[in-house]
Amino acid sequence: MKVLVTGGAGFIGSHVVDALRARGHAVVVVDNLSTGRRANLPADVRVYPLDIRDPQLAEVFAQERPEAVCHHAAQVDVRRSVADPLLDADVNVRGSLNVLECARRSGVRRLVYASTGGAVYGEPDYLPVDEAHPVRPLSPYGASKHIVEHYLFMYRHNYGLEYVVLRYPNVYGPRQDPHGEAGVVAIFSDRMRRGAPVAINGDGEQTRDFTFVGDCAAANLLALETAGATGLYNLGTGAPTSINQLFAVLQELTGYRAAPEHGPAKLGETRHIYLEARRARAELGWQPQVSLRAGLAQTLAYFQSVEQTL
Ligand code: NAD
Repeated sequence: MKVLVTGGAGFIGSHVVDALRARGHAVVVVDNLSTGRRANLPADVRVYPLDIRDPQLAEVFAQERPEAVCHHAAQVDVRRSVADPLLDADVNVRGSLNVLECARRSGVRRLVYASTGGAVYGEPDYLPVDEAHPVRPLSPYGASKHIVEHYLFMYRHNYGLEYVVLRYPNVYGPRQDPHGEAGVVAIFSDRMRRGAPVAINGDGEQTRDFTFVGDCAAANLLALETAGATGLYNLGTGAPTSINQLFAVLQELTGYRAAPEHGPAKLGETRHIYLEARRARAELGWQPQVSLRAGLAQTLAYFQSVEQTL
């Protein structure tokens, strides 16, 4: 089938493109290249360098006539969403609505939406967090990502647009930006590989659900191809990993010798979160395949290869 991937030049989106193509689907990408890179994609992938808020998006949909959409384009920086909530909502809510309008008008059958388990649930009442857990976002980013889930429900009800929401955990792997503030694995991998100092926020005992990007890309394929799949699905390993444990595995893999520096805990940061993905396992047949150790080794190898090509 033909799939339009928004945000396809980004970290996760580019792996979704790879997975779709490996499976024989035709892919086109819409990405304004604000954080994504053309180099993340094979040269023969057609990329429309367009903002998802742009009225011209309708022409792309009319011309390409995709059967499905994987919607990954977003303002992804939590700190920026706090500093400029209007911008965050403009991209994540208004931009997503533009994607939904184009999708329904051009007859798209199914849409997969990249949501966030890490930012919609807030401070968990229980662990691991399942899809029935209350939604209490603590940032404009968490709120703007969640609002689109409501629009999707409505578009299915009113227009028959089928959808799957994937609530991602902490996704890591090759092509993640090591210079942002979000990707702790990318930051640590890049710095430890080069022997640069590493700072851990707080005591490092906070836990996260680190899931390899290839596994999340595979979930997009299953979400598109599984007849009857609909609604919300958490992704995640269901296993907590502390930042100290992450540091220790990377230390083993890189031979890094220095001790980490401990800075102040980050204000407003969730102490523990990991996700229950039973629904994705049962209904999509999804199962993470890549262990933390193997995924970190692949991430380190990626940073090594990028450095060699510079
Ligand atoms: P990313 O920044 O690498 O990818 C986002 C992509 O969208 C980039 O290629 C960027 O250029 C593009 N983009 C941004 N604004 C755009 C706009 N207005 N118009 C067109 N394109 C635009 O980040 P990522 O981590 O790959 O995130 C992809 C998706 O997954 C996002 O929707 C994000 O909210 C979601 N997500 C990511 C994680 C994670 O752990 N990385 C966790 C939960 C959810």
